[in-house]
Amino acid sequence: MRSNDKQVTRRDLLKLGMVAGTIGFVGRPFSAGAEEKPVPEEGDAGEDLSLPQVPRRILGKTGKSIPILLVGGGVNLDPRFDPKLAEALRFGANYVDAADCYGGGSCETAVGNFHTRADIRKELWITSKSDAHDPEGFERTLETSLEKMQTDYVDMYYLHALQNGDYLSDELRTTVERLRSGGKMRHFGFSCHHENVAELLRLAAATPWVESVMFRYNFRQYGDKELNDAIDACVKAGVGLIAMKTQGSEASFREDWRKFERTGKWTKHQAVLKAVWADDRITAAVSHMDNLEKLKQNLAAALDRTELGRADWNALEKYAAATRNHACDGCDHLCGAGMSAPIPIGAVMRYLMYHDVYGERERARELFTRLPAEARNLATADFGSASAACPHGVDLARHMERAARVLA
Ligand code: SF4
Repeated sequence: MRSNDKQVTRRDLLKLGMVAGTIGFVGRPFSAGAEEKPVPEEGDAGEDLSLPQVPRRILGKTGKSIPILLVGGGVNLDPRFDPKLAEALRFGANYVDAADCYGGGSCETAVGNFHTRADIRKELWITSKSDAHDPEGFERTLETSLEKMQTDYVDMYYLHALQNGDYLSDELRTTVERLRSGGKMRHFGFSCHHENVAELLRLAAATPWVESVMFRYNFRQYGDKELNDAIDACVKAGVGLIAMKTQGSEASFREDWRKFERTGKWTKHQAVLKAVWADDRITAAVSHMDNLEKLKQNLAAALDRTELGRADWNALEKYAAATRNHACDGCDHLCGAGMSAPIPIGAVMRYLMYHDVYGERERARELFTRLPAEARNLATADFGSASAACPHGVDLARHMERAARVLA
């Protein structure tokens, strides 16, 4: 890999100071390309070899090679044949990240129609997820997913948005092992984005039948010792790691981040993806690309092997500092303690992000509607003490006032 500036090492990255804390590890220079391998096996499409192909890395103990850029299915997909999926595939981005709930349930149908129409099931890696976490519900949801996606196997199946680690029970392990040996599911893992991400990563590292975790991870968190230690534990245990929410939760602050739209060679969106890829413990980043232009930009960032240089990192650090008070980490235990009303602040902030940033207005409203009535009573709640308790200075009164307007 070339560098457009002085090469940034992992030590440098951890010293960027985006989050206070002692550095948990130091090590070899970043070289995202070091573990990238071409893919000579089923499910690893090298689609149009006359075109440059997105680099690939091995996903932990699955031993499988996947592209570093994954196509998020939480966007509107054409139910007949989605052109974004086709374009991604041409450049080797053959991994689709679906879920039973994405698109109000339409995502899996669109993925099924896409691969059957083009007859490319074997060239596609499909991950989907179950919102049911108990063994019976998990198996039932998998069956429905297979039916909707018109396939007899899924490459990976996740527990979706796991928060309670108790669901990784012996009963679930028995079910997972049966489904895996029966061929309906090739690999198993979970996704997580709540305040206990580090705890769940440690649990994954200690649970041999968990092969992969997709978790909230972005440039704001590089100095977080607890998270870094948990990531290291996963890497040591062979748990394949996929980053999501890489844009750093930019709910309701478009005007602020526009000042940082370009860090130099890269747009801000490209730069934060490259920041995740610079961490060679992470196999891939999933990206919500809701139009061809975003897909094109992200493909360009993945295909260009130029690493972020010092100037890019400095720009990202400035961006992180300037927008820190807009980005919610979902650590409700910190601000929620100061609330008299039972409002799940981290969740509401996440729904606001779905609404404002991902453009998933219906999904955001639907998720908000599912909250108990007392948790939706944003208009009368006092967020003063919660804002004061937030270590990042998130202006909750402003965000919740907006949430009440657009989500309720
Ligand atoms: S508002 Fe602050 S303390 Fe509350 S969940 Fe978000 S980042 Fe954490």
